[in-house]
Amino acid sequence: MRGMARSSPALVVGSLGLDTISTPFGSVSDVLGGTSSYFSLSASNYTDVQVVAVIGNDFPDEYRRVLESRRIDLRGLQVMDGRTFRWAGQYKFDMNVAETLDTQLNVFAEFHPRLPEDYRQTEFVFLANIHPSLQLEVLDQVRNPKLVVMDSMNFWISSSKDTLTDVMRRADIVLLNDGEVRQYTETANLIAGGRAILDLGPRAVVIKKGEHGALLISRNDGVFVAPAFPQEEVQDPTGAGDSFAGGFVGYLASRGDTSPEAIRRAIIHGSAIASFTVEDFSVRRLERLTTAEVLDRYATFRHLTQFVDEGLEVGA
Ligand code: AMP
Repeated sequence: MRGMARSSPALVVGSLGLDTISTPFGSVSDVLGGTSSYFSLSASNYTDVQVVAVIGNDFPDEYRRVLESRRIDLRGLQVMDGRTFRWAGQYKFDMNVAETLDTQLNVFAEFHPRLPEDYRQTEFVFLANIHPSLQLEVLDQVRNPKLVVMDSMNFWISSSKDTLTDVMRRADIVLLNDGEVRQYTETANLIAGGRAILDLGPRAVVIKKGEHGALLISRNDGVFVAPAFPQEEVQDPTGAGDSFAGGFVGYLASRGDTSPEAIRRAIIHGSAIASFTVEDFSVRRLERLTTAEVLDRYATFRHLTQFVDEGLEVGA
């Protein structure tokens, strides 16, 4: 199968905006953010990325150039009269928990995804965290996707659960964090929660656990556990989840492969990319990330999970 692999682009529909972030290590305001910027910069290490999003006419050209300097196609970007989406959040010492201080939807409130004609053929699709009814609008426009991966958040689980369930039924892989799986399934145990989501129809559920790694629960391949990189340089965890998704979907698209083995490797790629994102504020670390660094960290992950087996006898 490996010889048959071919590279496909990855399509993302999500937010593009300006973030104001404060962590114990510093703060920044109106920096490049949004789910689709983290996703696209991460996935562009692997393949061409097509972005469908909306910005206002105050969006800095400089940030547009950050995206255009990579393999990121912005033909699906809508520019509307008005202010760009803004999000403000803060982290205390538990960097797994973001506290939202302010969300200004601005032009994002009027957003309806419109896929350019050629994007409709794209086989690898990421539905970032947006209103589930918009995620359904995307699914109605794509023609014959090979892999649909979706994300969501606590807000949609509490406010639009039925619509979100419709998206899950049509997705191949559901990416959620541990808190979201517990909230959605009303189940304490993550394996049981993951299986409840599988019952809706997806092939696999990937549960992101921040600094504790990721858990794959899949229909054909049981359970797979990946560690997080033991990272001491965490400055700003914003975007870790979308970067994980970018590495995950970007890798699969670059291989044109959705086999269980490829999905396991994709989880390691997602974990590797996310571990870089958190080293600096906003997308700064992703801007200067090289393929050599990604591959080096991927290799470190292999080492992290290897041990030498002496045989099964103990106490002899
Ligand atoms: P995460 O990977 O979960 O840390 O995603 C962080 C990004 O999500 C930030 O750059 C925010 O701009 C974006 N974001 C936060 N809230 C929302 C929302 N309600 N809708 C869309 N994007 C959001």
